[in-house]
Amino acid sequence: MSDSNKNNGLLYASDVIKTYHVGKREIQVLKGIDLSVQGGEFVAIVGPSGAGKSTLLHILGTLERPTSGTIMIDGIDGGRMNQKERAGLRRGRIGFVFQFHHLLPGFTALENVMMPLLIEGKQGKAAEDPAHDLLNQLGLSERLTNKPAELSGGEQQRVAVARALVTNPSVILADEPTGNLDRVTGKMLEDDLIRFARERNAAVVVVTHNEEWAARADRVLKLVDGRINGL
Ligand code: ADP
Repeated sequence: MSDSNKNNGLLYASDVIKTYHVGKREIQVLKGIDLSVQGGEFVAIVGPSGAGKSTLLHILGTLERPTSGTIMIDGIDGGRMNQKERAGLRRGRIGFVFQFHHLLPGFTALENVMMPLLIEGKQGKAAEDPAHDLLNQLGLSERLTNKPAELSGGEQQRVAVARALVTNPSVILADEPTGNLDRVTGKMLEDDLIRFARERNAAVVVVTHNEEWAARADRVLKLVDGRINGL
């Protein structure tokens, strides 16, 4: 890792601006966001609904492009890449967990977790073993061959967490991952996500309304009126 990477963190954003055009109206959702997250650090982003939290997370994850500004993942500039290059940058480097799990309904829990490894070109046991291990560690060893519809909401989200972690990404981005779960199930998922991320020294950014969870973050950033304030 070069010195500049160390200084900038695994996930680095500088002066990120995002403007949407709705009809003739221009809405500036993000007005110059600076952010740097180190490996092993857990950052929570809070703020009122419509503040731009999801937009920021999508831009950090290179799912969406900023209008201007820089995004660096592992020292690589993702902001100006085309769609295909960004998909390549995401693969293996970024794990996403969303409020709705987005598991593939026709595949089993094990197959869903293997999928990112298969896409990376791993085959057979090289894909199956890590997926199996993670699902075991997440308490899902009895659910490997179940399809998503046969799993509870909490189990589905744990499979989604396993899928996000299976490639050992440097950056984990989660958007209200427990928003759909009851308090106890949500807390278990939070514990797992934080523990696994810390073990892997990943940089974690979570958008959450959940104050208890935000309170456990290393840093809480509040997004208001398109800008970030530390709490
Ligand atoms: P949050 O996650 O904080 O609730 P969002 O990032 O979802 O906020 O949205 C921030 C603002 O940007 C909202 O006013 C929303 O309507 C607007 N917005 C989000 N995506 C688009 C889009 N694709 N086109 C136009 N406006 C959008």
